Amino acid sequence: MKINIKDTFNKELDADKELSNSPRQVYNSFFSFVRPKILSNPKLIHFSEEFANEIGLKEYADSEEFLKIVSGTGVYDGTNPYAMCYAGHQFGNWAGQLGDGRAINLFEIETGGKHWTLQLKGAGPTPYSRNADGFAVLRSSIREHLCSEAMHYLGVPTTRSLSLVLTGDQVLRDVLYNGNPAYEKGAIVCRVAPAFIRFGNFELFAARKDSGNLKKLTDYTIKHFFPEISSEGKEKYLEFYKKVGERTLDMVIDWQRVGFVHGVMNTDNMSILGLTIDFGPYGWLENFDNSWTPNTTDANGRRYRYGNQPDIVFWNLVQLANALYTLIDDLSALQGILDNFSEYFTSKYQKMLQSKLGIEAEYNADFQDTLMRNLESVETDMTIFYRELANLEKTDSSEKALEKVEYAFYNLEEITEPIKNNWLIWFEKYLALLRNETKTDNERKVWMNSLNPKYVLRNYMAQLAIDDADSGNYGLIEEFYVLLQKPYNEQQQYQKWYAKRPDWAREKIGCSMLSCSS
Ligand code: AMP
Ligand code: MG
Repeated sequence: MKINIKDTFNKELDADKELSNSPRQVYNSFFSFVRPKILSNPKLIHFSEEFANEIGLKEYADSEEFLKIVSGTGVYDGTNPYAMCYAGHQFGNWAGQLGDGRAINLFEIETGGKHWTLQLKGAGPTPYSRNADGFAVLRSSIREHLCSEAMHYLGVPTTRSLSLVLTGDQVLRDVLYNGNPAYEKGAIVCRVAPAFIRFGNFELFAARKDSGNLKKLTDYTIKHFFPEISSEGKEKYLEFYKKVGERTLDMVIDWQRVGFVHGVMNTDNMSILGLTIDFGPYGWLENFDNSWTPNTTDANGRRYRYGNQPDIVFWNLVQLANALYTLIDDLSALQGILDNFSEYFTSKYQKMLQSKLGIEAEYNADFQDTLMRNLESVETDMTIFYRELANLEKTDSSEKALEKVEYAFYNLEEITEPIKNNWLIWFEKYLALLRNETKTDNERKVWMNSLNPKYVLRNYMAQLAIDDADSGNYGLIEEFYVLLQKPYNEQQQYQKWYAKRPDWAREKIGCSMLSCSS
C-alpha cells in the first residue's frame, strides 16, 4: 500500500512529553502520541467506495493491509498516531479538558491536490478517555458511517467516513442510562476530514491563559486550512474568525434545509472548518417540529432542538470569540464581526427558506411563519411535504394543491375544517406568488428538487440497518449507502424509502429517541 503521507499536526505542533496512556490533564501540548488497540479478529463490514476512490485507497480496500490500518491493528510505516487535546462547553457549561477520548488520528495524506486526516473512532483508550473505555458500539458506528456520507451527498459540509469495521470484541453500554448495562458489538469508523480541529482546541489554551500555544494553533490552522488569509497581526485573526463564522453559519443553514438535528452542539463538537462533526444522537425531522430533539439526554432543556440550532451556533461563535480574544484584543472589532454574522445569517437563511418553496421573491416573514405553524398543526412529514410541493402547478386551485401534498400528512383525520382552512388560505397566497414568478412549473420543480431531498437517512432506516447488522447482515448498509449518494434523484427503484416513519418507530429507542450512549 502506497500512501502519500503528509503529516503536519503532529510534526509542527508540540507533543505531550509523557507517553503513558493513562487518563490525565495534559498541559503545554496539542496532542498525545497513542497507539490504537491491536485487535485479534477485526472485520471490514463496509467501506465508502466512491470516497476511497477519491482519496486513492480504493485499490487497496480488499487488502489485509487496508484492514490493518482502518482497524488500528497495524500502524502505517513512519507514522505516529495521536489523540488531540481540546476542551469545550457542554450543554452551556464549561467542561474543562476533554480531548479525543476515543478518537485516534492516524496520519495526514495528500492526494488529488487535497489534504486529508484519517482518524479512527473507537480504537481504544487515550489519555483523554477520562473514566470511559475508548471504544464505540456497532449501532452508533453504523449511524456515523452512513450519515457522514449521506450528508456529503446532500451537499452539507461534513467529515467523511471511509470504513466501518467490526472489532470482534464486546463493549458494555447502558443504553438508557437506567442501570441496565449490556454487552454490544464493538466497531470502528475511519473518519476523514482535512482536519479535526474544533472550537474546543482554541478554548483549551484560552482557558489556561496559554496565549503562546493559542497563537501557535491559530497560525497553524490559518497556514494550512485558510491559506487565502494574507493579512497580519490582529487583522489576520479577525479575518480568520469571520471566515470560521461564515462557514459555520452556512453549515447550520444546510442543516435546517434538510431537517438534520445534530443533538449535541457542544463547542467540542464544532469543527473549526465548519464541517458537521461527531454524529452521536443526531436525528432527522420526520414530522416538522421546531422543538424536536432526538437526544434524550437533552430532553428537558431541549437546548439542541431543531429550531434552536442557529441560535446555538451563535452562542458557540461567542465562545470562540472569547477564546480568540487575547490574539485580537479589540472588542469592538470582534463585536462588529458578530453583528455582521447576524445579517449574513438572516439573509442567507431567508433565501434558503424561500428557495425551498421555489420562490425568488423577497422573504415574507408572515408567509413563512404561517407555513411553519401549519406544518406543526398536525403531524406533517417535512421531507415529503417539500418534495410533493414541487408538483404544484400555477393553474392549480388551493384545494388541488392541498391534495397534492396529502402524502406528507401522518393522519388525514387530523385535518379538521379549521386546519384545512388554514392550509387553503396559505396555498392561495403561495399559488399567487408562484404565478408572479418567472420560472415555469417545470423549471421550478427542477430547482426545488435540487434543494429538497427525496431521501434522507430517516431515523428508522438507520435502525433497520443496525438491527440487520446485529444479526450479521450488512445488505441494508450498502443499500442505504448507494441510495443516499443521490438523495435528490427520484430513484424509483428505492421508492419504498420515500415513506413516512412507520408507527413501530414512533417511540422506539434508537429511532426517535437516542441517548449519548455510544
Ligand atoms: P461526545 O459528546 O460524544 O462528543 O463526547 C464528549 C467527550 O467524551 C469527548 O472528549 C469524547 O472523546 C469523550 N468520550 C465519549 N465517549 C467515549 C468513550 N466511549 N471512551 C472515551 N471517551 C469518550
Ligand atoms: Mg465529541
